[in-house]
This record gives sequence, C-alpha cells and structure tokens, in this order.
Amino acid sequence: MALGWFIRFLVVLVLVRFVWKFLTGLAQGATARPRGAPEKAVSLVRDPACGTYIDRKRAVTLGHGGETHYFCSEDCRADFKQGHRAASKGV
Ligand SMILES: [Zn+2]
Repeated sequence: MALGWFIRFLVVLVLVRFVWKFLTGLAQGATARPRGAPEKAVSLVRDPACGTYIDRKRAVTLGHGGETHYFCSEDCRADFKQGHRAASKGV
C-alpha cells in the first residue's frame, strides 16, 4: 500500500530531524564556552597577610590544616605564621 510507505517515510523523516537536532545541539554545546571561565585565565589567589592578589604559580605557599595558603612574599608568609601563632596562643 502506498499509505504504508508514506507513514514509514514520515517516521524516518521525524527520526532524522530528531537526530539532526540532537547532533546540532551537541555541536553547539561543544563550541559554546562557559562565560567567565576562559581556559588561559591566570588563577589569582589572595594573600591572607596583606590582601594582595597574586598569580598562584608564583605565590609562596604554606600548607596549613589541610589547605594551602598563598602569599606574595616570604615576609607575608612569616607574618601570617606569626599572626596565626598569636591567634591560637590560648590553645
Ligand atoms: Zn603579601
């Protein structure tokens, strides 16, 4: 029957459209970059001693209590250590 072929044709058409939409959606999702997070951005960290923002790679680090603190200089790191000791004196 001609009608049977027509229905099959319609089903295939709908399927093709569905797959096409899916593929173009995937392509758009792959090319669209999330805003505010460019890949080449320098990750800045805040020096807790003086409040300056520095490049994480160049920062002086101090591991403390499971987390890492970043400082612009060793002086700041020393200040932070001293300040922390003073603060936790009562313990
Ligand atoms: Zn500093």
